Amino acid sequence: MQPLRYEAIDVAPAALDRAFETLRKQRGAGNVTLPHKEAAYRICDQSSREAARAEAVNTFWTDADGQLIGANTDVGGFDNTARDMLGDALDGARIALLGAGGAARAVLTAVERWPGAHVALWNRDGARAERIAARFDVVRRVHADARDAAREATVVINATSIGLLDDAVPVSLDDVPRDAVVLDLVYRPGGTAWVREAIARGMRASDGLPMLLEQGALAFEAWFNIAAPRDVMRDAVR
Ligand code: NAP
Repeated sequence: MQPLRYEAIDVAPAALDRAFETLRKQRGAGNVTLPHKEAAYRICDQSSREAARAEAVNTFWTDADGQLIGANTDVGGFDNTARDMLGDALDGARIALLGAGGAARAVLTAVERWPGAHVALWNRDGARAERIAARFDVVRRVHADARDAAREATVVINATSIGLLDDAVPVSLDDVPRDAVVLDLVYRPGGTAWVREAIARGMRASDGLPMLLEQGALAFEAWFNIAAPRDVMRDAVR
């Protein structure tokens, strides 16, 4: 095998189709991040069931016939890390999901497989929340206020970008039950303010770093069909 390079390419939305055509000719593979995941799903010739359900692709490769194949390892990345964190609490979980973008759809694609789980959904743009609620039966109710979604939850998940650039929180922990598990998909150096505060209050909480690692490991395994070196990847991220 030739030595491979994994490098970041900064692509403007208007140039995405052209970038994928170049990658297709090179028999390229890679990951796609914000804001291109939905467009990548439309561009790929074939997609995994999870990518189709989430209507988003974060991992792709080119097959021997030059077809672009899309997958969504955010789904498995979230699922595996949430299962590690929740254990038995996963069955029948009452989930408050904050957000209705690509990450929220990946979460819903995972949690619709959890036995007896159901979701109270909130998003800043309520119409967007209603649209995804219509596609995912696991969503029992859309709330106009994040506090109402969180009030009776056993698991509260932030799938918005809140807390990415500053110490803003998606919902005050005063409005979250004390025994709820707090899962933030956002990650930043030193952890997010929301998760830091949850841990200080003695709650079980994790930011998005374990999911970032796991979705990367699953992408590696999809490309190479061998176990990903998760320890090496964890050290590199740290
Ligand atoms: P996206 O499709 O652009 O959706 C962004 C979401 O954040 C929407 O629900 C949007 O609400 C909401 N939002 C943005 N700014 C807001 C604000 N100021 N107040 C309230 N809501 C706000 O992005 P995405 O792909 O879903 O990603 C969301 C977050 O998840 C990002 O921070 C990303 O880094 C993180 N993420 C982490 C992982 C991981 O591996 N840990 C994987 C994927 C994503 P509106 O609909 O109202 O605009």
